[in-house]
Amino acid sequence: MNVLLEKLRALAREDQILLDEPMSRHTTFRVGGPADVFFMPESAEQLTGAIEAAEAGGIPWMVVGNGSNLLVLDKGIRGLVIGLGEGFAAIARVGNTLTAWAGASLARVSAYAQASGLSGLEFASGIPGTLGGGCAMNAGAYGGQLSDCLIDAEVYLDGRVQTLTNAEMAMGYRTTRPLREGGIVLSARFALTPDDPEAIAGRMRELNARRRDKQPLNYPSAGSTFKRPEGYFAGALIEQAGLKGRAVRGAQVSEKHAGFIVRTGEADAADILALIHIVQDEVKARFGVTLEPEVRIVGEA
Ligand SMILES: Cc1cc2nc3c(=O)[nH]c(=O)nc-3n(C[C@H](O)[C@H](O)[C@H](O)COP(=O)(O)OP(=O)(O)OC[C@H]3O[C@@H](n4cnc5c(N)ncnc54)[C@H](O)[C@@H]3O)c2cc1C
Repeated sequence: MNVLLEKLRALAREDQILLDEPMSRHTTFRVGGPADVFFMPESAEQLTGAIEAAEAGGIPWMVVGNGSNLLVLDKGIRGLVIGLGEGFAAIARVGNTLTAWAGASLARVSAYAQASGLSGLEFASGIPGTLGGGCAMNAGAYGGQLSDCLIDAEVYLDGRVQTLTNAEMAMGYRTTRPLREGGIVLSARFALTPDDPEAIAGRMRELNARRRDKQPLNYPSAGSTFKRPEGYFAGALIEQAGLKGRAVRGAQVSEKHAGFIVRTGEADAADILALIHIVQDEVKARFGVTLEPEVRIVGEA
């Protein structure tokens, strides 16, 4: 670990390197134990240098964005966690193509597209993740998903930075090749359609009003807890199983939208995980349907 720290200190400023950093500060659930080392690179060189140093020392590493789809367990994450945030977040437009770096929030990317009079990312404006996390998850809402307009992405994969086309990203429902194979999305390009900025803004306002109306946005969560099972809606199954409001300490199946687990009070990751298992078991027993978490569960319990 000391060799890794030396290398990071040679690559970056001291304030980009945090030791024993509580992951509760980097997740929207606001739970999660410490990361041994939390590093916030500001360039592709710093990012790849950090990974090379970790791999040379046999130290495990993972990347996080806004932590809006993460359940980090209570003993935290061993090794190196790379946080891609606003230091890694440029956005640029050339013609109808928009390029954004991984740390830019999806809200800012879609606002930039709107202000530029480019349509196609309205659906993403209320998703509280980063561009990198969104591309890795193939984030989507209201009938749109990032794979619809992604041209290509710069991805660190198999030890080198490479450009993967939309087809090579192999983006499915909340899954992509970088997510499956441990690649890091550094930036992505999107093909958008010119439109009146006011019309785009109107659509964004309408979708975000629908979101506020249906989702429990006033409590910490990681969005939809489970993927949509083939032929069903997770929230409807959970509600029909009588699980709305079911709680383990302050972790609760949302009263407003059963597809969300929220923290309404004191709850750590173990409580949220216990509730996930209760919901999975009861839905399986009642309907024979397996609910697969959409939330990524990481770290040590
Ligand atoms: C209130 C709320 C509403 C939500 N609504 C939606 C919605 O409508 N649609 C939807 O799809 N999701 C939704 N989500 C979930 C979440 O916002 C998305 O999955 C988002 O894309 C995750 O981005 P992130 O930056 O927070 O990623 P994180 O949660 O930090 O990471 C998620 C996964 O992506 C990986 N990852 C992160 N960054 C990168 C990168 N640069 N390269 C490669 N892998 C990376 C991580 O290792 C992890 O496996 C919602 C969440 C909340 C809290």
